[in-house]
Amino acid sequence: MEYGPSVEDSGAVRDWLAGRGSFGHFIGGKFIKPGQTFVTSDPSTGEALAQVTQGTADDVAAAVRAARKAQTGWAKLSGGERARYLYAIARHVQKRERFLSVLETLDNGKPIRESRDIDIPLVARHFYHHAGWAELRDSEFPGHAPLGVCGQIIPWNFPLLMLAWKIAPALAAGNTVVLKPAEYTPLTALAFAGICQEVGLPAGVFNIVTGDGATGAALVGADVDKIAFTGSTEVGRAIAATLAGTGRRLTLELGGKSPFIVMADADLDAAVEGVVDSIWFNQGQVCCAGSRILVAEAVAERFEALLNARMARLRLGAPLDKSTDIGAIVDPVQKDRITAICRAATDAGAELIGGQPADGCFIAPGYLRNVTPANPGMEQEIFGPIATLSTFRTADEAVELANNTRYGLAGSVWSESAAVATDIAARVKAGVLWINCANLFDAAAPFGGYRESGFGREGGRAGMLDYLAEPAVKSVKEPKAQ
Ligand code: NAD
Repeated sequence: MEYGPSVEDSGAVRDWLAGRGSFGHFIGGKFIKPGQTFVTSDPSTGEALAQVTQGTADDVAAAVRAARKAQTGWAKLSGGERARYLYAIARHVQKRERFLSVLETLDNGKPIRESRDIDIPLVARHFYHHAGWAELRDSEFPGHAPLGVCGQIIPWNFPLLMLAWKIAPALAAGNTVVLKPAEYTPLTALAFAGICQEVGLPAGVFNIVTGDGATGAALVGADVDKIAFTGSTEVGRAIAATLAGTGRRLTLELGGKSPFIVMADADLDAAVEGVVDSIWFNQGQVCCAGSRILVAEAVAERFEALLNARMARLRLGAPLDKSTDIGAIVDPVQKDRITAICRAATDAGAELIGGQPADGCFIAPGYLRNVTPANPGMEQEIFGPIATLSTFRTADEAVELANNTRYGLAGSVWSESAAVATDIAARVKAGVLWINCANLFDAAAPFGGYRESGFGREGGRAGMLDYLAEPAVKSVKEPKAQ
């Protein structure tokens, strides 16, 4: 049954955008007057959607001051009171699911089926989950204190979901936040600020400064107690260097090149469907995408035939069309980056199956075969709908290939034997491992990586700990008995 938003639902969103025209930052509970602006557009058509303010260092400082002013009062609320705000936010997100999913799809280019069924429901789920943690903070983490003001910098691939991942635990723990959305996709964050106003979130608890990397760098240099960053390994490295020696907290969620391991006894139909979820979901713009398919030589031919048949049935097209499987790449710059890596890979001897660029910001799903470990397609994070496919003979070889990367974010293993799957899963060095599934997320399951994929966790108990200061260790010497 087809249901939910589609192209005909974009009217309300377009009216909202036309009514606003240009957006200022959200500071101290209010939208301030727009400053110098840049355009955010619909990548599937190139149509300009809105003007958004380019944040300056002064704007960032004003937002940090507002967050600092609000922090003591917010931290003093009982866990139950903070939880009430988070529950209210979750309910308002659910009430506006259609609006938010259409807005997300317009600004990002992802298929409406994904924003409607995955992104926005997970946003609500994340706030519900962390409302529970707000209530439990004092009993589960006795003696812990909030860190203070958190600066949070997020990418464009899951704009509102990354906002939820960042701010829900921060607020639950008693911190206040200044968030910088990605410059390609600031609109759902700005709509979310309206939700914060509706639920009466105290002014300054959550602030947004929009802008590009320079605005992000200003936030890293501002008077904040923690930076939480999701994005590229290169920028993550620069942020870590800036913060070194400052004593400020840092968590980094960076890139990946995650293995997707198909053992000889796997259910091949299910594994092929897993590839769809893994590398063709969100046009492959997923940090934990299973971008390196490793398949047992004994079943490789059969697997590839099934994969090609499935790939041919995927529908590339208008993101607001409910039947679209593959939408637009977020921006022409990203499209060029993806096609450049594919060209370098084929120049180095790989064969590209599918994966052809189309007019506008579109690239058909595809994969690279005949890839050596040193091929650029094997080494670099493509961050597009293109996997690599290579084969192995033994389980040990599969593990060795899987771990032959500088990253360590995620992985998935496909086998009908629980013993085989759990053995391989335990030997793959990655923060998140899926067995017979891929790209399944839950607010209760901590997410994060090792090595160049970063450090820190988001979600669940481990995620809460990253927004709390440990209790001081107090040594008490007993007085001598009289
Ligand atoms: P990016 O790292 O450049 O941008 C991510 C966020 O950081 C954006 O909000 C951006 O404005 C901000 N930023 C940029 N430069 C900054 C700086 N010097 N200081 C502080 N903040 C800064 O990533 P991108 O351009 O959006 O994408 C490039 C690559 O990053 C992708 O191709 C992919 O490899 C990776 N990426 C990873 C994830 C992930 O979830 N791990 C998400 C998006 C992108």
